[in-house]
Amino acid sequence: MKIGILSVDSNYPNLAIMKISKYHKSKNDLVEWYNPLKHYDKVYAAKVFSFTPNYGYYINADEVEFGGTGYDIHKQLIKDIDVLQPDYSIYPSIDSKTAYGFLTRGCPNSCKWCVVPKKEGGIHPYMDVEEISIEGRSNLILMDNNILASDYGLIQMEKIAKLKLRVDFNQGLDARLVTDEIAKLLASIKWIKRIRFGCDTPSQIAECERATALIDKYGYRGEYFFYCILLDDFKESFDRVNHWKKKGGRYLPHCQPYRDINNPFQIIPQWQKDLAGWADKKWIFRSCEFKDFEPRKGFRCNNYFDLFVK
Ligand code: SF4
Repeated sequence: MKIGILSVDSNYPNLAIMKISKYHKSKNDLVEWYNPLKHYDKVYAAKVFSFTPNYGYYINADEVEFGGTGYDIHKQLIKDIDVLQPDYSIYPSIDSKTAYGFLTRGCPNSCKWCVVPKKEGGIHPYMDVEEISIEGRSNLILMDNNILASDYGLIQMEKIAKLKLRVDFNQGLDARLVTDEIAKLLASIKWIKRIRFGCDTPSQIAECERATALIDKYGYRGEYFFYCILLDDFKESFDRVNHWKKKGGRYLPHCQPYRDINNPFQIIPQWQKDLAGWADKKWIFRSCEFKDFEPRKGFRCNNYFDLFVK
């Protein structure tokens, strides 16, 4: 069979597509990135985000299978594919030391802005770290959504420390779950660049402060990165993001405007785009205050304080 793989809206390595490729190659099928000038027996089209446009052209194939959160949050890989190792060869940009995966899936929480519990259910074990760290790949990009909420996840983290693997939990950790013991474990792990936390509500600022101080106590000196959802309240969002600017060098916020997956017509407020444009570009974030940021000619963000802060 001739199989086409099509990533509709993201160049980020897609684990499902890598596993689908592995599955078909194991059946001696020809697998390649979709080329609209060719005809395929089957095309897999993956879309990550609900707010990005659909693939706008005819797909030249006898059969097309659509998948990914952008098409259907409930769709899962079949078990025979899900258990496979990814085919890293389809992404030449992934170096031979790097692997991608999940140790757990799901989350026990139900934050109103998040699709994870609806998509994956409660937290549960998924893979062992040694099934991800294959072929000498010792730099692991782990996409678990709430690893600290799982006893199995904590055992895996102990294993990561013991095996001296370098990791990035790129979806963030939950600061509320960092005890003294967990802080010691986190400080003993080799991190790729930084430890990431969610900082989505005002109360999580204090939790992130507490967790980072505990981890520092055990000797961690790297960077911290904070995912900050942007909801309706400009002042609250600004204060939360700006807290980490005031804190200085090792503490970096990252803004995520709230996306309503049930509302394809949602318009992201301009203040959210501008706050993200300021905080997420580190050279701008480091060099100016938000009120002095001029995202467009003739518009300075101090206007938002006049508009929204009485
Ligand atoms: S804790 Fe994180 S993964 Fe879990 S529901 Fe909230 S935002 Fe989603």
